[in-house]
Amino acid sequence: MSELQQRIADNVTRVREQIDAAARRSGRDSQSVRLVAVTKYVGLDEVLALLDVGCFDLGESRPQELWKKVNAVSHPLVQWHMIGHLQRNKVRRTLPAVRLVHSCDSLRLLQTIDTEAGRDACIVPVLLEVNVAEDAAKHGFSSDEIPLLLPTIAGLRNIKVQGLMGMAARGSDHVTARKYFVRLRELRDHLRGIGIPGIQMEELSMGMSGDFETAIEEGATIVRVGKTLFSGDA
Ligand SMILES: *Cc1c(COP(=O)(O)O)cnc(C)c1O
Repeated sequence: MSELQQRIADNVTRVREQIDAAARRSGRDSQSVRLVAVTKYVGLDEVLALLDVGCFDLGESRPQELWKKVNAVSHPLVQWHMIGHLQRNKVRRTLPAVRLVHSCDSLRLLQTIDTEAGRDACIVPVLLEVNVAEDAAKHGFSSDEIPLLLPTIAGLRNIKVQGLMGMAARGSDHVTARKYFVRLRELRDHLRGIGIPGIQMEELSMGMSGDFETAIEEGATIVRVGKTLFSGDA
C-alpha cells in the first residue's frame, strides 16, 4: 500500500469511528448516517484510494469537475453527489451522473431539473438547500420561503424531494454551528409535520470536516466530508 493509500485508509477509519460515536450519542445507529466523501480538492489517486476502503458515495461541488471524475472512474458501486451550485445550463449533462442533487437552491433550477428528467423519463432525487446562515453571499432558499414553495415543488412530477441540505456560517465555532444545525432540523420537522403529498423530508445533509460530529448529534443523515479525509494530520 502506498503512503497515500495508507493515509486515506487511516483517515476514513478515524472519520467512520467518529461518525459511529456521534450517532450513538444521538441515540441512533451509525447506519443511519451516510458519509459522502468530497473529492473536490483531490485527483484520481485519492478517489481510487477511497474506493479501496469502501467509500462509494463521492461528492463534487463543480459540475465540470464532476463530469471529469465520473468519466475517469468506472466502478459499479460509485454514487456521485452534486453538492455545489448547479447552473441550469449544466443540468442536462449532470443528471445522468448523479444519485442525489443536494444543492437545489431555486425554484427555477428545480423546474429545469424536472423538465430534463421528464425528457429522460426518470425521477431525480433532490434536497433543497437552505441558507440557514442567512449569508447573502451564499446560495439557498430562505427558511421562510420553503413552506410557501413546497406545494409548487410537489407539483414537479419528475423530481423527488427527500429532505434538506445546509451548512453553518463560515468560521462558526461548535456552539454557533450547532445552532444552524438545530435550525435546519427544526425546519425539516416542521415541513414534515405539514405533510405535503409527494414531498419526503427524511434526509438532513449537514456537517463538513470541522463540524460533522455536531451535525450528527443534531440529526444529520448525510455528512459531506472532504479535507480531513486527505490531510496528513488527525
Ligand atoms: C467542500 C464542501 C464540503 C466539504 O468540506 P470540507 O471542509 O473539505 O470537509 C461539504 N459541502 C460542500 C457544499 C462543499 O462545497
